[in-house]
Amino acid sequence: MPIFLVDVNRSSVFGRPLQTIDDATMSRYHAAVYEGCEFGCAYCEGWGLAARPLNESVRLMPHIAQHAQAEVSLMHRDDVIGLVADSDAYQPAEQRYRRTRSVLTVLSERSHPVVIMTKSPFVLDDLDLLQQIHAARFAMVIVSIVSHTANVQHKFEDKVASFAQRLALVTALKTAGIPVGVALMPLVPYINDTDYALTQVIQQVAAAGADFLYWDFLRMPNLRHRNRMNDVMVRVGNYPISYLRELYRDGATIDSRYRSERNAAVLRICDDHRLPVRLPYPLFRGRFGPSYTVAQIIAQQSSRDELQGRDVLATQGTQLAEAVRAGEWPIEQLKSHPTYALFRELVPTSGAGTAVL
Ligand code: SF4
Repeated sequence: MPIFLVDVNRSSVFGRPLQTIDDATMSRYHAAVYEGCEFGCAYCEGWGLAARPLNESVRLMPHIAQHAQAEVSLMHRDDVIGLVADSDAYQPAEQRYRRTRSVLTVLSERSHPVVIMTKSPFVLDDLDLLQQIHAARFAMVIVSIVSHTANVQHKFEDKVASFAQRLALVTALKTAGIPVGVALMPLVPYINDTDYALTQVIQQVAAAGADFLYWDFLRMPNLRHRNRMNDVMVRVGNYPISYLRELYRDGATIDSRYRSERNAAVLRICDDHRLPVRLPYPLFRGRFGPSYTVAQIIAQQSSRDELQGRDVLATQGTQLAEAVRAGEWPIEQLKSHPTYALFRELVPTSGAGTAVL
């Protein structure tokens, strides 16, 4: 049981905007309602970043609703807020403190778009607010899943809802009209990224009604986290100590060739089960102004390009998306983009070149 602390030093709910739109969540702000996470999943990067154990304490921001109101009033109305950062907005503390609900209430009053990433069915407690926000603007939930087997789940994340409960959550959200994606992460080499494990998860996620899949590989940002993961892997299975070291070479991210090969496998299996990779345009059509809509379409395509190894195109797409989001309209570049047919009606016809809306 963590201790709960009121953090009087925290002065911002949402922090500063990201430099580019996060294509995984469509968001430009990454926020944590709570600091610290009672779930304490073994693979969480939070273990390697905080001085104290991740699940030892949970910090609550005082007057969070008032702060949220003031900050949202200064934001661009199309900047999606992602409650996705380093702590689960529906960890058990939410049952008692309702800080996430108070933030969502503010977003609902201001009709401000939001995306929540969670492992918890408690998000359904706020279905009324999510439906209100989605009716007026855009609200989406991304359900995070790591494995279909109880054994792996138990070793990696023993305090969260089961695979079956999370599939049921996906179905409940879909039925309630809320766009719902699944984040399959972290992918841990040879544990949950084999063709068999991927197929098991993807086919059930697709059957549950998910709108799209996002995935990413385990990251180990520092030596502390690498040592911790080595200990965890010994508990998960009979892996030699060199196993992660060879694939990560003492870096934070996995070997690029291994990543490309596994990305191709996930793409193929998603294709087999007709599960979209990244956010399909119909999910957010008509929800944002022209520049943000075009920027989001291009950002999603860049993400797909990156998955398929088209790194140069992915980088160019990210830059193009950011330029459009900022109000520029480089018409010739837009015309040659592969998704142009999706957004041509949104491109301004007068002032072609680099018109600013
Ligand atoms: S629920 Fe998310 S933030 Fe919390 S410990 Fe698990 S991975 Fe980390």
